[in-house]
This record gives sequence, structure tokens and C-alpha cells, in this order.
Amino acid sequence: MKTETSKSENRPGGTIDGWCGKCKLVLAHTIEAMIGEKPARVHCNTCGAQHAYKVNEPGKATGTQPTRTRAGRYKTLLKDSDASAAKNYSPKDRYQPGDVLEHPSFGRGVATAVKDGTKIEVLFEGGSKLLVHGR
Ligand SMILES: [Zn+2]
Repeated sequence: MKTETSKSENRPGGTIDGWCGKCKLVLAHTIEAMIGEKPARVHCNTCGAQHAYKVNEPGKATGTQPTRTRAGRYKTLLKDSDASAAKNYSPKDRYQPGDVLEHPSFGRGVATAVKDGTKIEVLFEGGSKLLVHGR
């Protein structure tokens, strides 16, 4: 086991979810280089391949092939939430479980958990993501 220092910021050596073209999955990656605030090069923690950072599978809209269960859970959560109250996601805002938000890349999602006080787990149609909040 290795000790992890701060996981709450994007920085070289940090971990981030991204698309792995080899694994064909969104997986945890380690950031190797940053351009400004954004990860530029990463390597896949699963297969070790180095590549440019991508949030989602390239060339596909998000949520084109959600699994039944995932889509079911997502739809259930959205139905239980007040979709008309969806807020545009901003890392400066604070969220709590049950909040509905609109993300520019991932679309509409529902906050499912708060992590470390600085991150929220949000279930989007394409899957769960960790987002920064209260920055
Ligand atoms: Zn991989």
C-alpha cells in the first residue's frame, strides 16, 4: 500500500478519472503533466499506457451506451429529484446529496455523496464522477 497525499487537486502525480483507449473504459489515471489547470498527459493505473488525457471516450456523446442498471439508477435518482431545480455546475458552489446539476461535459447529474468536504460524487448518465465543489 502506498500512502496518498492530496487527492483533491489535479497535479502531476495525482489521480484522475479519464478515458483509457486501451482498456476502453473510464478508469483512474495518474497525471504526468499539466497544461495550466488541466491534465495533459496521464498514464492508466490499470494497463500503464501513457496517453493524452480524455474525460470520455472520444468521438462519442456521453451516455450513448449506458448499462441497464446504471441508466436505471440514474433515471430513478433523477425522477426522485427535482429536475427543474438543476443548477449549472460550478466548482465554487456547494452541493449536497440529492442536488441536481448540469455539467458542461457530462450533462445532467445527481449528487450522491460528499467526499472529503471538497468533492462530490455525482451520478451522470455515463457513470459516477468526482467533482470539486466549495472551492
Ligand atoms: Zn488502460
